[in-house]
Amino acid sequence: DKDLQGKTALVTGAASGIGKAVALLYAQHGAKVMLSDVDEAQGQQVAEAINAAGGSARFFKADVGDAAQCQQLVQETVSAFGSLDMACNNAGIGGELNMTADYSLEGWQHIINVNLNSVFYCLKYELEVMLKQGAGSIVNMASILGQVGTPGSPGYVSAKHGMVGLTQTAAIEYAPAGIRINAVGPGYIDTPLLNLLSAEVKQQLIGLHPIGRLGKAEEVAELVIWLSSEKASFVTGSYYPVDGGYLAK
Ligand code: NAD
Repeated sequence: DKDLQGKTALVTGAASGIGKAVALLYAQHGAKVMLSDVDEAQGQQVAEAINAAGGSARFFKADVGDAAQCQQLVQETVSAFGSLDMACNNAGIGGELNMTADYSLEGWQHIINVNLNSVFYCLKYELEVMLKQGAGSIVNMASILGQVGTPGSPGYVSAKHGMVGLTQTAAIEYAPAGIRINAVGPGYIDTPLLNLLSAEVKQQLIGLHPIGRLGKAEEVAELVIWLSSEKASFVTGSYYPVDGGYLAK
């Protein structure tokens, strides 16, 4: 189904995991895709794979923790493809794993910068373009940990909760301008992000999902593409879990 033909999508963190799956699925639906990541080699490879399959993709290296680079990324997207219709603000890291009293000051600043400030920076510059166009759809990559807490990850949890509030606020602000903004909340998904966890912890995490396994990046991408598309024309300011039943318990 080439329902996104003629549209341009921007994906951050597109070199790996969920972002890569989102970029590939946007392309399958016919969209032109700007991929961005700090990992240039992997990111270029994904863009080349899309082009080799007959799609239209480019890669631009940007660190989403840097406002100026986010601004440049949005500018590059518009100059390469002529518009910015859809964005998936997905790049993120796991960050320090420590209980709150032991969490380092540097670790806190870093995770808030990469996982939360980044979403504000990207939104700010994406909205500038979409406001001029009078249309657009943005999906922010939150987490189940944007709704509930977990011991040992206060920075990550706070960044994801913050992102959900920002999503709701911006959605209210820009709904009259024809721009929809939603958040997606994956459960634990089998991507390289989980490499920071031991095999034993991974096994325990499976037990937290009633479906009895970790999620796949492609299963998250399906929801992102749906929210981005006109099929979701009445959906804004929403948080959608895609979590194998994690939050239902
Ligand atoms: P991943 O590690 O496979 O991919 C993340 C990508 O982001 C990598 O390619 C990395 O290079 C890039 N990145 C990291 N820091 C960056 C920066 N400063 N600027 C630009 N790019 C940067 O991880 P993933 O599992 O695909 O995670 C993607 C998003 O999904 C993250 O926001 C993560 O918090 C969220 N998420 C993941 C899970 C999970 O279980 N895997 C669950 C819920 C939410």
